[in-house]
Amino acid sequence: MSNSSMPSELGFIPGRVVVVGSLNIDRFLRVAHLPRPGETIFSTGAQQAFGGKGANQAVAAARFGAAVSLIGAVGVDAEGRIYRKHLVDEQVAIDWLATLPDVATGTAFISVDARGENQIIVDRGANGMLDAAHVTAALAALLPSTDVMLVGLESPLDAAVAALRAAESAGVRSLLNPSPIAHDFPWGEVAIDTVIVNEHECAEIFGAPEPAALIGRGVRHLVVTRGAVPTLLVSVTGVQLVPAFSVEPRDTVGAGDTFAGVLAARLAESAEWGDALWRANVAAAMSTLAPGAQTAMPHRADVLAARRLLQP
Ligand code: ADP
Repeated sequence: MSNSSMPSELGFIPGRVVVVGSLNIDRFLRVAHLPRPGETIFSTGAQQAFGGKGANQAVAAARFGAAVSLIGAVGVDAEGRIYRKHLVDEQVAIDWLATLPDVATGTAFISVDARGENQIIVDRGANGMLDAAHVTAALAALLPSTDVMLVGLESPLDAAVAALRAAESAGVRSLLNPSPIAHDFPWGEVAIDTVIVNEHECAEIFGAPEPAALIGRGVRHLVVTRGAVPTLLVSVTGVQLVPAFSVEPRDTVGAGDTFAGVLAARLAESAEWGDALWRANVAAAMSTLAPGAQTAMPHRADVLAARRLLQP
């Protein structure tokens, strides 16, 4: 389904979303077994895909119909050029996507054995060079016309923190997906509207998902995704549960990124929490029905068509 089917929805005004985050080319190698140190083996098949949490989230939000800009960095290489073209095709604005000399576009090398066990090495490349000053300049230009900013931690910590501070002073709602976990993140020193974590990240960063966990951390809302189990929204006023969308998952890669991107897009349309979390759950569940991260992400019309099943 193409984005051109969207404007038929009456009164739909796209939310304006800025994503600050990473872009990787994912290189998959199928192997009979994972190599031991010093061992050389042949792969039984190779594939590549567009990945990186920032770009994944940006594509999810754009497919849901948001006007999306991605702040990030690629290298001066073929992969960087291909990624830029891909984002333009996905209607993600790349005016603030830096192209950096002397560094490669981020690459994830993913080996998967016959049993589905994997081994992943990420070369952060240009993502690791994303400069806080570049992020600040980009946000000075973009935030006046932004509804929601979404940030991840695959880029340098100082760039993510600079982004959160800029959103706070511009009065723009900030969403942080603190993944992968940074043990030196300055919790409590920067105000964050919403933190999105899975259960493991929640346990590690917040302990229990309860209102008391927010105190002293500068966080207004905590969203805890729990796979097929209802999603939690924790704020100082209490805890709200939003059901998952029932599916038989095939491949859950990218589900968390789909969730974050669609939540950002729906909140940017001024949706209520319950509605925004439900749409994010539907989109994330749909993304588990096909292999791959971005390739499996649904479009707006498909997400809005899903109906909540009433409990018998
Ligand atoms: P992560 O993949 O980051 O560990 P989760 O497993 O919590 O995070 O999945 C993120 C979201 O994807 C969930 O909140 C839910 O919306 C959706 N999802 C994942 N697994 C399932 C499932 N088995 N059934 C329905 N929805 C799912």
